[in-house]
Amino acid sequence: MPIYEFKCTNCTKEFDELVSISAEKKPPCPSCRSEKVEKKMSACAGFSGSSGGSCNGSSGFS
Ligand SMILES: [Zn+2]
Repeated sequence: MPIYEFKCTNCTKEFDELVSISAEKKPPCPSCRSEKVEKKMSACAGFSGSSGGSCNGSSGFS
């Protein structure tokens, strides 16, 4: 299940949320409970430590 990054447009709080692919609705802001949140694309959130490393610009291949 992917982790998406969201940013609240009301209080500018940024937070991560586990969302299923089929669920298109956005979670409310954990800070101010506003539903005015933007989904941010985050390709590698939640996959740190894997052997892929495609998201790590600095470490790369070894
Ligand atoms: Zn907020």
